[in-house]
This record gives sequence, C-alpha cells and structure tokens, in this order.
Amino acid sequence: MQTGRRTRGAAAGLTAAEVAAARAAHGWNALPEPPAVSALAVLARQVTGLLVLMLVGAGLIALALGEHIDALAIGAVVVLNAALGFAQEWKAERAMLALRAMMAPQATVIRDGREQAIPARELVPGDLLLLAEGDRVPADAEILAEAGLRLDESVLTGESVPVSKPPGETAFGGTTVTGGHAEARVTRIGAATEFGQVAELTGRVERGPTTLQRALGQLARQLGWIALAVAGLVAAMGAWRGLETLQVVMLGLSMAVAMVPEGLPAVVTVTLALGAGAMARRNALVRHLQAVETLGAASVICTDKTGTLTENAMTVRQVWTAAGSYTATGRGHDPTGHVETGGAKRRAGDDPLLAQLCEVALGCTHARLSRAGERWEALGDPTEVALIVLAHKAWAAAPDPDALMEELPFTSERKRMSVLVRGTPANRVLTKGAPELVLEHCSRIATAGGAVPLTPARAEEVRAVATALAEEGLRVIALAARDTDEDRIAETDLTLLGLAGLIDPPRAGVAEAIAAAQAAGIRTVMITGDHPATAQAIARSLGLPAETVVTGAEVAAMDDAALSATVAGPVAFARVSPGDKLRIIAALQARGETVGMTGDGVNDAPALRRADIGIAMGIRGTEVAKDAADLVLLDDNYATIVGAIAEGRRQFDNTRKFVRYLLASNAGEVVALLVNTAMRAPLIFLPTQILWMNLITDGVTAVALGLEPPEGAQMRDPPRPRATRILPLSSLPLILGFGLYTGLASLWIFERLLPQGEDLARTAAFTAMVVFEKASVFAFRSLRTPGWRLGYLGNPALLVAFAAMLALQVVAVYWAPLQVLLQTVPIGWAEWGLIAGLALPLLVVPELWKTLRRGR
Ligand code: ATP
Repeated sequence: MQTGRRTRGAAAGLTAAEVAAARAAHGWNALPEPPAVSALAVLARQVTGLLVLMLVGAGLIALALGEHIDALAIGAVVVLNAALGFAQEWKAERAMLALRAMMAPQATVIRDGREQAIPARELVPGDLLLLAEGDRVPADAEILAEAGLRLDESVLTGESVPVSKPPGETAFGGTTVTGGHAEARVTRIGAATEFGQVAELTGRVERGPTTLQRALGQLARQLGWIALAVAGLVAAMGAWRGLETLQVVMLGLSMAVAMVPEGLPAVVTVTLALGAGAMARRNALVRHLQAVETLGAASVICTDKTGTLTENAMTVRQVWTAAGSYTATGRGHDPTGHVETGGAKRRAGDDPLLAQLCEVALGCTHARLSRAGERWEALGDPTEVALIVLAHKAWAAAPDPDALMEELPFTSERKRMSVLVRGTPANRVLTKGAPELVLEHCSRIATAGGAVPLTPARAEEVRAVATALAEEGLRVIALAARDTDEDRIAETDLTLLGLAGLIDPPRAGVAEAIAAAQAAGIRTVMITGDHPATAQAIARSLGLPAETVVTGAEVAAMDDAALSATVAGPVAFARVSPGDKLRIIAALQARGETVGMTGDGVNDAPALRRADIGIAMGIRGTEVAKDAADLVLLDDNYATIVGAIAEGRRQFDNTRKFVRYLLASNAGEVVALLVNTAMRAPLIFLPTQILWMNLITDGVTAVALGLEPPEGAQMRDPPRPRATRILPLSSLPLILGFGLYTGLASLWIFERLLPQGEDLARTAAFTAMVVFEKASVFAFRSLRTPGWRLGYLGNPALLVAFAAMLALQVVAVYWAPLQVLLQTVPIGWAEWGLIAGLALPLLVVPELWKTLRRGR
C-alpha cells in the first residue's frame, strides 16, 4: 500500500498563474446550473388552482350574460391574487436559493505548495487534490497515492459495496470516500467528468411538503368539499327563491370562496421559507423544510462533545511516562511555550524518551503546522495538531517526509492510528490512540532504564493514570512505538511510551444553552468517543446532568429494555462508536422522544438519517454527513441547536396563530352569508369583495402575524408532543366566537343601512368586515398573553400590515376604479363611526379576558 503523504515533485501543486490558465481553458468545475425555478413556473402555479379555475368559470358566465363589470372584477381579483401569490412564492424561492448557495461543497487542494480548502467549483484540471474519509470526490481525478482508500461508487454504478482504488486509477466525481485518504490529480472537471455527476455536488435543499403543509392541505381539501356542498345548497336556495342565474352563480361562488382559507398555503410556504432564512442567520442551515417544524418538537438532543460542547482547540497540558511527567506551557497552537519537568526545561535533543514521544507526535499524523507571517496556521485534526505543537515546544527534529511506508488510519471504531516509517537501522511502527486500545497492543513500557515488560500490574497502573488525567477533563492519548525489520505494518508488541493529556476548554455560551434547553424541557445527552471520565468531567463543568456514564461496550451488552431504562435517566455515553448511536436513538424514540442527533463522520450518516432531526457539523462535518442531515450547523456549536429549536417553536406557534386567525375571518364571512340568505335579504357581500378580503387583506396580515417574535414562555414550556394538531378542537369555540360576532355585527350594519340603499349598505358591511378582521388580528398575537405584556410595538410588521390594509380599504371605498370593480360607493362619517364602534370590542374584550385569566 502506498502512503497518503505527498510525493515529491508533485508537492507544490499548481501556481496561481497555472490555475488562471487552466481556468481560461476549461472553465469552472460545475455543470450548467440546473434550471432554477423560473418565474413563469411560479406564476403558472398561481393560476392553475381549483379556486382560480372556478373564478375564471364564473367570470366567463358573467361575460356570457353581458355583465362586463362583474367579469372585469373577477378578472382583476384573479390577477391581483396571482401577483400576490407570485411575490410571496418568489420570495420563498429566493430564500431557498440563498440557502442552497450556502451549502456549496469544498475541496482540499495543494496550490503554491500550500494545502488549502477552496470551493469545489474552483478546481481546475491539474489541481493536486487531497481526499479524506467523508469527502465527496469533487471531480474526476487520477489517484497518485493512497492509504486505505475506499470509494462508494453507488451513484455511478449502483453497487453499494465500497471499492479500493490503487494509484493510477480514477476516482470519479460524485462518488464518496468511505475510508482512508488519497492524493490525486484532477483530470476532468464540470461537464467533462464521467457521467457529469458533478451535478450531484451542488448542495441540495429538498423540499417535499412538510407534515404541516400536508395537514393544512388536507384541511383545505375538507373545507373545499364542505364549501362545495354548502355553496350548492345556498345556490339551490337562491334559485328556489327565484334569483337570476348570474345571482345564483355569484351566491354559490361567494359561499365557496368565503369558506376556504385561500391564503393559507401561500402564507405557510412563505412562513416556512422565512423561518429557514431566520435560522440560517442564526447559523443553522435547514436542508429540509420539515426540520423547521420538527425542531420545535425536539425533546432530546444527543450531541457529541468535541467541538460542539468544547472548542476543539486542543493543547497538551501534561505528559505522563513511567520515567516521570512533563508539563507544557503556552496556549493554542502557537508553539512558543516549552516542555518542563520538575521546573526544568527539557528538549528532545537531551531526553531520549521525550524524543521518542515527539517522533510519534510528528510521524503518526496528518496534521500540519506552518507559519504564515506572524501567525501559526494549523491544518488537520486538532488532537494531532496539539501533539505536533508539543513536539515543537520540545525542539524535536522534523521527520523525513518520504520515510512513510504504510498507514492504518484512525477511525472512530479503532480509536487509534499507526504508521510504518523507514529508518536506520530499523523501520519503526508508530502508534497513537485511546489508552485502553493502545495498551491492548503493547507488551512493553518505556522507563528511565529502558523498555521493560508491561506486566498486568503495570498496565493497571497506566490505566489508573489515564483515568486520573481524564477525570481532570483531559483527553488522553497513548503513544507507542516499536522497531521492526518488516515492511508491513502490524500493531503488535508495541512499547508504550507515555500518555498525553490534552485540554479542550468548553465553548463559551454552551453552559447557558444547556440550561436554556433544560428550562424548555429538552434533555441534552452527551455521546462521545472520548474516555468516560473525560466525558463526566466536561459534563460537570457545563452543568450537564450526567450521573452515569455508559460506555459503548456496555450499550452493546444491554438488551433493549435495559437500554430503554438507561436512556430515561441523567446519562452520558462515552467510548461510543457510530453504530451504538443508532441503538441509542431507537431506544429514545421508543420512549416517545423526538430526537435530534449530531454527527460529522461518514459512519454517522445512518444515525443522522434515523434521528428525527439529523444535525451535521458545517465545519468539521464530512459532505456525507451533511447530505444525510436535516440541519447543518455552520459554527458546529451546540448553542446553535438550542437557538434553532427556539426558532422552530416560534414557527409552530405562529402557524397556529395565523391558521386560527384566517379561519376566524372566514367563519365571520360564512355566518354573515348564511344568515343573510336565510333572511332572504339581498346579497351582503359580492364574491369579488370576499375574494378581496380573503386573498388580499387577510393574506398580508397573516404573513405579518407569522413574523410575531417569540413569546417569553415559549422556551419555558415542555416540548409539544409530535401529534399536536395545528388546529385542536379546543380552538373551535374561539374561531366560532369571533366568527359569530364579526358576522352578525356586519349583518346588523347591512340591515340597518339597507333602507338607505343596497350599495351603501353593502359597502358599509364589506368595509366593516375588513375592519373587524384587521382588528381581531391583535387578539391572535397570543392566546394567553395580553398585548400590554407582549408590547404593542412588538411586531412592527403587523402594525404596518394593519395600517396598510385599512388604507387600502379606504382606497377601495373612495377610488373610482376600485369602486367600479368592487361595486362600492362612498360611505360617510356616520357609517365609519358605526364600524369603529363595533370594532372596538374586538380590540378590548380579548385583552380584558386574557388579563383576567392571567390574574387567576
Ligand atoms: P466526540 O464524539 O465527542 O466528538 P470524538 O469524536 O473526538 O469525540 P473520537 O474522535 O472518536 O471522539 O476519538 C475517540 C478517542 O480516540 C479519543 O478519546 C482519543 O483517545 C482517540 N483519538 C482521537 N483522535 C485521534 C487521532 N487523530 N489519532 C489517534 N487517536 C485519536
């Protein structure tokens, strides 16, 4: 097997000039953009709905009967509705497009002799590409060197068993690296790649209908059927009363239009998309809109520790050996500190054991530390970087980059890494990893007097030291080595050199976020690959309840019942491998929990898929993990998950608010129309007026209601059960209450003014209904908190929508063109006074009621 290290000659990669020349010749590493959703398609969606077809039908009948004004009015409403729907959907579409752009994949290349991460789009043929486990291969590339490279080519071949590829063969764009790593030279990019699979590389945001959208769709359909039946009935009543055909059609149509909350689907789409945008601003990228919804119901967050709860900025603090201990000074990856023992500085040059430790630190690694001007730049796994920094502090000699012969890579399952390096007089096996696992392969231990057999008693002593270091919250890495004359690597008979203890401070804000989650009834469960004692120490420092720490091995030994009992308590999991995560999720889900699970590696993908909310790390995470996730954390921060949950809860609550609001508005119209028809009075609202209310004034107000900021209590309530209905039966009295009042009040105005003329009465009733609906919206801002507690200016968008829609209604009443379309006539101060007087209770009564209920 070849090495994954750079081969000489190729090491520098392309220069900036060569990249520019190749770019000019070959273009970008991208397929022609898949046609973005066109404006035309979005528009087409607006004009093909059942309602619109019904309207067009009615318009044609009106035209045939010579009622040009009616036909024109219906036409105008169709156009306005389409314009509004288009504007909203287009906005949603743009928001999703922006999200997609943020998910563009990256590639690691060597250019100008420097390893760097660039957008995969910028690759050119000739680029020196580094592939690592979890990467999506960004272009077709010839493998130059590899170590344990395994590729999943199922996107190309359908064959799901990973294949190995020796140097000389091609890694195809679009396939994924499931193991090992490689250095490769890009041969073909963009459309020129095999099968043009690069299209798969553009981050995708999938957007099947969410549960919410489906539930609302169902509601709309049910209402639609009821509406048709009622409309037919009302029309029949009208016909029996001897109305003209057009009037019968109009009556039926009014009824149908009044009953169905036409604005609802658009409002939900816009709210979800805006919600996804709001989450992205909080560093949480939503890959499925469904996640916005599910997040609000999350009851358990399973999170890894390193980098999510902690900074993943490791520094070696202590090194234990059987010959004595060392401490290291300095912070971060600036190697300006030093190594000391008993207060005296030590250098590798005059301390053979320290030199051997440094040999492993520098030789058994993929990390790199380089100086960029004043700053030190580190690339690679922070654990490895910390060890390299330690070696620099000990003034250790740099290893020969060409000495590497073979490697057994680190995986979360093996929890160790070994390399074979060429040397004189003998080759060397260098190993580092989790102490328990490295110890299993050691037969000797280095002491001041040379290597001696590792007796069970000595091994026990080493384990005790490892535990003691871990209890201080340190990550512990065992370092071991062996001389060999073979040229194949074998992790046996190693000599344990010592243990390094690395600190990794908790991230700022995480302790607060854990407390906030706890207050919201959301449990946080740490699942880490680290030592149980480290896990517990870090949990304690973060205020995370973890009375018991269960290891992966213990999980494996438990049956489902025992695991189920374990996950119910304050528990953390340590030394876990990705496979264990699946069982832990299943156990939690079986208890009815809604589980969010974080992950970053290839092997985490099944757990990410299985979890109710799969959460991938944006920085540390592999492309494979991101693909499997519902949510990607741009900052890898635990606190971001809690922020996203708060956002999810807000969305769900707001959706409930505007669904109730829209239905209450419709109920008012239906009550007015039904009672009106039963009373045999002239038609109280014309279909166009109802459309105006439902599609234009209500829709805009509802979107604004969807922007309502979170109520204080939202993160103090327990998570809602998954089955919580958006519209529980208990909300019916509220909807009917508002409907009865607004319906009967506008009917009363209509009846009262009827003697002064049908047009005046109808205009006043129509205007009254619009004003009532606008006034009621404030009651729906919260179902329990009065406005004075929420802050009257808390939702500026709602105030703007309120004012704008009232102004629009004034225009509808006094502006000639709209007067023609909506068949309105000017109304006077007396009518306005009547309307205002009847609207007042809608503002006052709900406030009083909520205030009184709070008092109780
Ligand atoms: P978490 O799941 O909290 O993020 P983790 O993912 O860092 O933890 P792993 O990466 O699986 O956990 O590491 C498990 C153990 O493997 C560590 O405790 C450490 O002892 C060892 N280890 C980690 N990184 C390396 C490495 N690069 N080389 C060798 N051993 C390592």
